[in-house]
Amino acid sequence: MPKQPVRIVAADPDELEQHRWSVDVRKALRQRFKLQDFRPNQLKAINATLAGKDVFVLMPTGGGKSMCYQLPAVVTTGVTRGVTVVISPLISLIVDQVTGLINKGITAVTLNSTMDAENRNFSLAQLRSPEPTASLVYVTPEMISKSAQFKDVLQGLYQRKRLARFVVDEAHCVSRWGHDLRPDYKELSWCKATYPDIPLIALTATANERVKADVKEILRLGRDCITLSQSFNRSNLFYEIRKKGSQALGDLAAFIKNEHDGECGIVYCLSRRACEETADKLRKEHGIASNHYHANMEKGDRQRVQLAWLNGDVKVICATIAFGMGIDKPNVRYVVHYNLPSSLEGYYQETGRAGRDGLPSTCVLYFSYKDIRVHDRFINESNVSWEQKQSQREILNKVLQYCINTADCRRTQVLQYFGENFSAAQCKETCDNCRMNSGATPEFTDVSSEAKDVVALVRAMNPGKVTMNSVIDVYYGSKSRKVTEPGHDKLPEAGKGSKMTKTDIERLIMVLLAQNILKERDVHNKIGFSNSYLIVRITDMDSREHSANLPHILGQRTEG
Ligand code: ADP
Ligand code: MG
Ligand code: ZN
Repeated sequence: MPKQPVRIVAADPDELEQHRWSVDVRKALRQRFKLQDFRPNQLKAINATLAGKDVFVLMPTGGGKSMCYQLPAVVTTGVTRGVTVVISPLISLIVDQVTGLINKGITAVTLNSTMDAENRNFSLAQLRSPEPTASLVYVTPEMISKSAQFKDVLQGLYQRKRLARFVVDEAHCVSRWGHDLRPDYKELSWCKATYPDIPLIALTATANERVKADVKEILRLGRDCITLSQSFNRSNLFYEIRKKGSQALGDLAAFIKNEHDGECGIVYCLSRRACEETADKLRKEHGIASNHYHANMEKGDRQRVQLAWLNGDVKVICATIAFGMGIDKPNVRYVVHYNLPSSLEGYYQETGRAGRDGLPSTCVLYFSYKDIRVHDRFINESNVSWEQKQSQREILNKVLQYCINTADCRRTQVLQYFGENFSAAQCKETCDNCRMNSGATPEFTDVSSEAKDVVALVRAMNPGKVTMNSVIDVYYGSKSRKVTEPGHDKLPEAGKGSKMTKTDIERLIMVLLAQNILKERDVHNKIGFSNSYLIVRITDMDSREHSANLPHILGQRTEG
């Protein structure tokens, strides 16, 4: 009788690989963290850092980055041992994590500029004792860049061989190409420069190539650094862009009431005032219990609002984007951007705060071109170099392209931006575009000649106050006084767009803006308001390079 063939079972190589700390790692997972299994890449990161290697972890928001450094911090059988030093950008983030760890019976302390002497001395004592009692110390980057006392503590730990590793959380903050530059993060090159033999873990949810390269260089992650990346797709999130018109608030209220009644969500607004107004109107005009949250509130009020939302007593929070960073609330069922985010990185991080528990959740962005103007103004007025302004404009332009592209899968678009190829077929109609096109490839209409008309029209209407709306009206064929008085209805292109919808004409103009063929210029009037007027940027509209890109965006889908 032939021998029974040996069955080969495919197993995760990480599971098979045994290290001297493997038993401790499993034990810590079950007993300290009360979890059964690791998520993708967590064990790889843990093994690499326990082996003394540098690690760069790229994981989407909610992927479980904290585990990659919290767990090894309590394992004492790695190549390096002692205290894990975690650098995190915000005190609120630090407080959340330290509290969470203490609740698990893990000793974590913090050192930051807002502490009083007593607390500070308590933390210092824990780090200075011959066998430090704390497994982790959480600090803001300023501690590394500015505190000689803290550097002294680190030197002491190092000499006693009790400096286990450095952790740089939210590592994209080092990069000026990112959306969240923190100047003090730059100084973190000090860690590897001073202690090349102490392993460092950098973690971020931003996978933009330029940012990645910056992080590696600035933090001095060497050639043998282990980079762990994975798909950034969040399959349980539904993505949708809605047009933000005069009815937006009613639409938002209906969305909350009809689709997410009694569920927790976040509505992001750009300004503090917008947070207050939106929360107020949702309450007064639509009977939705909502609260606002922003940096200008009293600390006590802020904490109360956050706690009420975390507990589920308040379901809807209208907040600036700082809210929710690092907050570990699993059951956020929707994230609304009521104003335009300034980058796709930011958008993806913020939407990522929905559905951490893996259950279906919705991400809605209300888009209005007005918000592009607001961001543009911020950029123009900001105090940075010309190159940085240009870079921010490019980043903003990508957001615009994303919003006006109603043809391609949202996931494909965003993930492409992060350098990942995502096939729309895998979206399974969990974004507005795929659902609308229902799996079919959208038909494209060549609008090169319409584009030329619009550019000619803007040129002909100049010099004058050529607003986006006035161009739409003239091209559509309006006979209103605003059009006829200056004789714009007599221009050769007037009315040539009568077969298009106004929405499509608007989209066409936005495509031309996104392609830098048209440009808006801000003009301040006497009473301090500013208006935006269109001008033509390029002179050679016939160059194929420019017209060839146009059809792509205007798919078969037109919204009313
Ligand atoms: P990130 O920092 O990547 O955004 P977090 O570290 O805050 O994510 O973790 C997000 C959520 O996932 C938390 O609720 C955390 O408890 C949970 N989590 C992390 N790892 C696991 C795991 N292995 N099994 C189950 N839940 C996990
Ligand atoms: Mg995190
Ligand atoms: Zn899709």
